[in-house]
Amino acid sequence: MPRLYFDHAASTPVDPRVLRAMRPYFSSEFGNPGSLHSFGQKAIAAVDASRESIGKLIGAKHFREIIFTSGATEANNLALRGAVEFYKKNHPDAGAVGADPTARPRVIISSVEHESVFETARALEQDGVEVIKLPVNKEGVIDIVALKDALNDRTVVVSVMHVNNETGTIQPLREIKFMIDAFRKSAPHASTSPHADSSAYPLLHTDAAQSFPYLYCDVAMLGVDMMTLSAHKMNGPKGVGALCVRRDEKVFRESGGFPLVAQVSGGGQEFGVRSGTENVPGIVGFARAATLAAAARGTNATRVTALRDELWKRIKAAMPAAEINGPMGNAKAPHILNIYFPGHDAQDLLTRFDRAGLAASSGSACRSRAVESSYVIEALGYDKARADSSIRFSVGKDTTKGEVAAAAKIVEGTLKMGSS
Ligand code: PMP
Repeated sequence: MPRLYFDHAASTPVDPRVLRAMRPYFSSEFGNPGSLHSFGQKAIAAVDASRESIGKLIGAKHFREIIFTSGATEANNLALRGAVEFYKKNHPDAGAVGADPTARPRVIISSVEHESVFETARALEQDGVEVIKLPVNKEGVIDIVALKDALNDRTVVVSVMHVNNETGTIQPLREIKFMIDAFRKSAPHASTSPHADSSAYPLLHTDAAQSFPYLYCDVAMLGVDMMTLSAHKMNGPKGVGALCVRRDEKVFRESGGFPLVAQVSGGGQEFGVRSGTENVPGIVGFARAATLAAAARGTNATRVTALRDELWKRIKAAMPAAEINGPMGNAKAPHILNIYFPGHDAQDLLTRFDRAGLAASSGSACRSRAVESSYVIEALGYDKARADSSIRFSVGKDTTKGEVAAAAKIVEGTLKMGSS
């Protein structure tokens, strides 16, 4: 039986070159980066070299702007919770639960964010924060006018993902940045607020976990204050990621330039923003994976786009009633294809695909064990029935034409057999 993997948006295999770079840090170079002896020095040198490479790849001003985390989920938690807590600390008037509702801090997210942003926003809401979810159009792109209307002088963070993990939609981050810049300049609070940091808000955060291998992710070019990355989406290891945070030591003086409160406290690693002994092999592997992914980005994007389009062509030929959820063609990230199979139950199809050797998914792996409908597909304006009949196929840099043909054949054969 073939083993066809079309779920690269969930995770990717570790590249052998990445594994090779990591190996010594499991054994001979096992020191704790916090130790002062030579073992520790080797480890901290590897961590900082990795920080430097990743910083350069995303256009960070300084390597000290990269905070290593256990992945994108933790980075998203740190970005949202950390920023809100910091804001509350410095704006006592922003209040807790039960305080003046007009003084509540505000967080703006899109209605198609990954669970790690969505659920974090929900938890903040329960804690008295006002959360605004921006609607999206049929392509999954946020309503920029709704963003303009939602910005107010209590907005702490605007979090809009770069590429959506279910539909591949690319969000217009530059436009969002221009709108936020205009707001920062025009808002009366910038000059009248007693808080020195007021014109730095709202902070713009983006989750770039899905985009990094295929789209240029430069924090300055995109105009973001914070960017989330995850190694296992770019042929690196699981359990490691980063939050890149633009530091401003003049504005956020007391926190070393970070507009954040640490969410994991302890020994003060990662510039005091994220304690815990650094995952040295993981960090080294992450940097190697990011370097390789960035170097091959253009070539991989072209290849993967062609493979994805070929898969769609074949599936559409097998079932003319099938439709794409989200944007078509090149208006989206190369690797993701989300298809609506009218009259079919997605879970049933996925089980039968898997039995035939084809791995795909019904959306985010972080939710799929729970077999819930996709809120992302519903946010696009579709009903639950469509969400329950939709499947995501995601291609990887090493997927071949032969695998695409074989996968399409399994889809065709399964559809022909009808519903079980
Ligand atoms: N954000 C996005 C857009 C993702 O696709 C994922 C992975 N499903 C995550 C965050 C979570 O990443 P991690 O597994 O590194 O926590």
